[in-house]
Amino acid sequence: MQKRLEHLKRLFGQWTDRDNRWLAVPCTFAALLVLLVMVKSCQGIVYNFSNECKIYKLGYPIEDARTLVAVLSEEQEDSLIARQEHDTIAIPVIRARYFIPDNFDRYLAFHKTDTTGATLDDIIALVNVGADQDRVTNSVPSDTSKGTLMLVNGRHYLDEHYTPDNLSTFNKNCCYENQKAQSAVVDAFVGLQQACEEQTDAHLMVNSAYRSYQDQIGTYKRNDKRYVAVPGYSEHQTGYAIDVTSLQHPEKWSFGKSKEGVWMREHCHEYGFIIRYPEKQSHLMAYSYEPWHMRYVGTDVAKRIHDEGITFDEYYAYYIDYDGAHAKPQSR
Ligand SMILES: [Zn+2]
Repeated sequence: MQKRLEHLKRLFGQWTDRDNRWLAVPCTFAALLVLLVMVKSCQGIVYNFSNECKIYKLGYPIEDARTLVAVLSEEQEDSLIARQEHDTIAIPVIRARYFIPDNFDRYLAFHKTDTTGATLDDIIALVNVGADQDRVTNSVPSDTSKGTLMLVNGRHYLDEHYTPDNLSTFNKNCCYENQKAQSAVVDAFVGLQQACEEQTDAHLMVNSAYRSYQDQIGTYKRNDKRYVAVPGYSEHQTGYAIDVTSLQHPEKWSFGKSKEGVWMREHCHEYGFIIRYPEKQSHLMAYSYEPWHMRYVGTDVAKRIHDEGITFDEYYAYYIDYDGAHAKPQSR
């Protein structure tokens, strides 16, 4: 009996040793294959729950779904998914020149309810400057620490105590009555006036410059309220705004059509000024076109605003509030 057992043991040992040699490779391969399939299945299950997959299932091409996930915050992705529809403007919006990521939901909401046929550029600009929000309830104090670039408009205001700390008086040949403005404005106007006179033979004059909060109360009471800023919301309180016409063309509404008015549109940025309320962009602002109202912002910013054809409100939203000059560009 003992011998029989030993014989069987020997036979079994030979068989297993021999088969192990042949089975080792395919068995290991099969095990790895099973493991790989399991990992892939798990990945598939996890992917199904990802926002990229959920966005893709809304009808966005996979490349667009990836782009959206790369650009949007998780909260914005969730909000996009909750819409349960493929929004045709989602991708054009994030590739737009002045796209601000925080405004993504508002661009889409604006487009959804817009009945005016606003273009993509209009949607971006209107939302960036806050025109989609109620002006009264969304007004905020102006950040006066920005100096020459402080923003005062229908949504940013100065309190009654704000007074510029560097006021100078214009020379007599620059204004009809005693007028003051920030000293940088007074200095820059001299260069602007000289150049305009040399090139157009017209002599520019400042009609109004710095106005205190109290002055603005008087101006507001005396004039048509459609064209005069509510006290606190006037740029004239900053000391960086001036109203300009010429001795040859003192009428302010048609000043933009005079040769010096045209020259101002084309050249005032060379002296640090911008036409604050341009004709084509009045729908972006609380104020209508004012060819006479100039704002000093310094030559670098004035050049950028002129070259890019944007308003100061758009500039402020994109380049100052958002720091768009350092933003990572989206693939356009
Ligand atoms: Zn003005």
